[in-house]
Amino acid sequence: MGVLTTVKEMFAASTQNPNRGEDPTRESEGAYWCHDCGERVLDLDVDGDDAPECSSCGEEMTFERSVGSTGCAC
Ligand SMILES: [Zn+2]
Repeated sequence: MGVLTTVKEMFAASTQNPNRGEDPTRESEGAYWCHDCGERVLDLDVDGDDAPECSSCGEEMTFERSVGSTGCAC
C-alpha cells in the first residue's frame, strides 16, 4: 500500500509540473546540435550518453542543455 501511494504521489507531482513547450511525459535535459546543418536531436531521442552523429553531414553533434535546466528561474 505504501509503495503504491508513493508512486501515485510522484505521478501526481510530475503531472502538476509541466515542462514549458516540451513533451510533458518525459524530462529533457537538452538537445544535441549540429551547428553547421542546424540539425537538432533531443537527448530523449538518443540511445545512451554518447553524442550522435549528424544525419546530414556525419559530424559528431554537440550537447547543449536546455535553458530551463540551468538553475535560473528568471
Ligand atoms: Zn551536420
